[in-house]
Amino acid sequence: MYSFFNKIVYNESIFYQIIRIKFIKSTIIQSGEDIMEKYEDLLTRAIDQLPPEIFETKRFVVPRAYSDIQGNRTFIKNFKEISESLNRDPQHVLKFLLRELGTAGNIEGSRAIMQGKFTHYLINERIDEYIEKFVYCQECNRPDTQIIREGRIFILKCSACGAKAPLKTL
Ligand SMILES: [Zn+2]
Repeated sequence: MYSFFNKIVYNESIFYQIIRIKFIKSTIIQSGEDIMEKYEDLLTRAIDQLPPEIFETKRFVVPRAYSDIQGNRTFIKNFKEISESLNRDPQHVLKFLLRELGTAGNIEGSRAIMQGKFTHYLINERIDEYIEKFVYCQECNRPDTQIIREGRIFILKCSACGAKAPLKTL
């Protein structure tokens, strides 16, 4: 409900229309059911006029890393799936992970293979860090972003609010 009204504020005319209808309601509430029906009607019509995007709440779901230690290597079995859910190049995600964990590794099919033994707790913690730095918009905090390149600089561009922020090179 909070985000619904938060978004409605941007559509001022309809927002005030709804406020006005609510005000009419409070002044005519004793006048009987007829008027209540009219009120419901007006409210429904006002809500119908709102652009559909207002009601859309895209869910941002990132699968947890499903990893397995074999010998002296750690396999992240759903690595491709994780990268796709973040809308990021798997190589970029891996580069960050390898740097953070101080190891070497590569991608093989849908899996990431890393030298060394790492718990999935540790891996997920680092992926959360990646999301914080390379996915969420620093202005509006939404995850609808992409990484673009301007010259030699990589930029995090937000599709929701349009903000741009330079990124550190990995
Ligand atoms: Zn933004």
